[in-house]
Amino acid sequence: MIYIFTGAGMAADSGLPTFRDTGGLWENYDINQVCNFPQFIKDQHIRDLTFQFYNERKLQYAVAKPHAGYLAIEKLQQQQPVKVITTNIDLLHEAAGTADVLHLHGRVDQMSCAQCYHYWDIADHVFEPSECAACGSVMVKPGIVFFGEMAPEYEALHWLIEDLKSTDTFVIVGTSLNVVNPIAMIRSAGKHPQIIFIDKKIPAVAKVSGVIGMEDTAEAGLLKWMDSMQ
Ligand SMILES: [Zn+2]
Repeated sequence: MIYIFTGAGMAADSGLPTFRDTGGLWENYDINQVCNFPQFIKDQHIRDLTFQFYNERKLQYAVAKPHAGYLAIEKLQQQQPVKVITTNIDLLHEAAGTADVLHLHGRVDQMSCAQCYHYWDIADHVFEPSECAACGSVMVKPGIVFFGEMAPEYEALHWLIEDLKSTDTFVIVGTSLNVVNPIAMIRSAGKHPQIIFIDKKIPAVAKVSGVIGMEDTAEAGLLKWMDSMQ
């Protein structure tokens, strides 16, 4: 089985800016305000800004096109079992036709309830305040995991790592490993799949024994890795 874990660098190659390139400001929004769970709960002004910010992101994501790396993953999934895990909230993997993507930090076509963690689909509709159908709370938000908020899908990642076999391949693409570090999780679970790490700058935490590093952009690195498997 092949697992492909993608981060912001993957989407950056399709023209979507990443948090780490913006230095904490994103088109004049302070991301520590508009992606901040405790502030969202506390402050109506922050809630308004947060909805506005994510509606702008949603428009930006809607016009982005999956690059050749996304298409190659989809093609590989046609040939053999491939599971994609991403920290990205855009739907570029889905746009490429990839099935069964695990979104660790939520996705841009969902809303969620801050009280009971009910998630629901809104497809292309804008994020807007409403009422949770499960518990009636009006504290609802874009279905994206904010700073200071629980990430329900981390549990799915945990179980997926527990299931890894030494014959599996785990490819990590375009992430700084700052927020989620699958290498550390795999090691602490005592698992030994083949690990490939692709990023234009390989962080020190990825330079560990048993990890094959490929210093390249997500798109170019993925294509090279797939070529090397032929
Ligand atoms: Zn609810």
